[in-house]
Amino acid sequence: MPSIDTALEEAMDAFAARNPTSRALQVRAAAVMPGGNTRTVLFTRPFPLRVAKAQGATLTDADGHDYLDLLGEYSAGIYGHSHPRILEAARAALEKGLNLGAHHEGEVKLAEVVTKRFHLDLVRFTNSGTEANMMALAAARSFTGRRSIMPMEGGYHGGTLYFAHGASPVNAPFDCVMARFNDVETTRRLIAENADELAAVILEPMLGSGGCIPASPEFLSMLREETARRGIVLIFDEVMTSRLHPGGLSEKFGIEPDLKTLGKYVGGGMSFGAFGGKREIMELFDPTRPNSLPHAGTFNNNTLTMTVGAVAMTDIYTHEACNELNARGNILRAKLNDLFMRYQVKMKATGQGSMICIHPAAHDITSPESLEKTDKRLRQLLFLDLLEEGVYIAERGFMALSLMVTDSDCERLVEAVETHITRRRDLQV
Ligand code: PLP
Repeated sequence: MPSIDTALEEAMDAFAARNPTSRALQVRAAAVMPGGNTRTVLFTRPFPLRVAKAQGATLTDADGHDYLDLLGEYSAGIYGHSHPRILEAARAALEKGLNLGAHHEGEVKLAEVVTKRFHLDLVRFTNSGTEANMMALAAARSFTGRRSIMPMEGGYHGGTLYFAHGASPVNAPFDCVMARFNDVETTRRLIAENADELAAVILEPMLGSGGCIPASPEFLSMLREETARRGIVLIFDEVMTSRLHPGGLSEKFGIEPDLKTLGKYVGGGMSFGAFGGKREIMELFDPTRPNSLPHAGTFNNNTLTMTVGAVAMTDIYTHEACNELNARGNILRAKLNDLFMRYQVKMKATGQGSMICIHPAAHDITSPESLEKTDKRLRQLLFLDLLEEGVYIAERGFMALSLMVTDSDCERLVEAVETHITRRRDLQV
């Protein structure tokens, strides 16, 4: 019987043989960037593909192969590539002037759109989701006068806020009380025990990078109840999940946190982040008030993001478009799980709506711990096999559908996964 290691080695060799230009670019890149990389999540073995161009839902790599793009830039690329309305808005913004060093109407417009859609009293813009979360946590600490924060084990809120297997060594030095996602009673007790020090509880209503694992309504209700009772700021990181419902996942759950953070697609594909929510917290940043909190950022109100973001959210990712995209994702996830059942393989597709993650596991996945014993090599093999079939997803199995992905593209993925299953049947029993 073939071993997983042998299959993986062969798949990597085949990948390397197909992609000599990407390999050459990796050699050049490694001379000037550590490991040839400037964004860790994109590094894959034996070396990453270098994409030369993109159009619609298609990526073309440096060696001329086309791929169906189902990664959707880790959920930021919801509009697909070169959406005509996005291009038009970007050109208009460029023509009006880029680096104004001044207030302008564009930021007012985007703030109006975002506060209305996501039920925020007030909002502030940043350049990334990481910064939005850093600022939301800082606001919570100032507001409460307390120091510690409670993230979830396995939570991801940006490069300096990463909590898989404890805190990442490059994290911002917050005092953290780690909680277990979806563990209602343990977390309730932890909040009670640490209430005097806790400024904020922060989580995604569905873990995105953590494997597309939805929070249970009971868990979110408990968090809302306990934080409200103890004066702790509840922050929902909706950088990814806000795309899953017209008003974000908090609206779908019917649970409003004190602060929300946004990012990714809301800026129309430009660099973007935002934090906002309750007036009494956000007003800390009002510069007309004595001792207001500073919030800097040269590009916070850059005209490109402000203009394109407002157009994207009002003209393209409308409530109808959002509902349709998420319905397509739900159908695709169900088809994948049917396929896994039919072949009786240990695979599972998790997520909600247009965000999907395929795991090499057959059991219920309700927390990051449920994934601990899964075999990383099987994920790599799926990734490499799908590339061979012309389909691009994240190496960890993550996908985020863009508006350019059609029903027949979804069928193509199901067929490619079926080819992987039949090809690798011996390995997955
Ligand atoms: N929060 C969540 C839930 C994310 O998924 C990410 C990025 O993947 C971030 C925050 C960080 O956003 P950015 O990469 O824009 O800093």
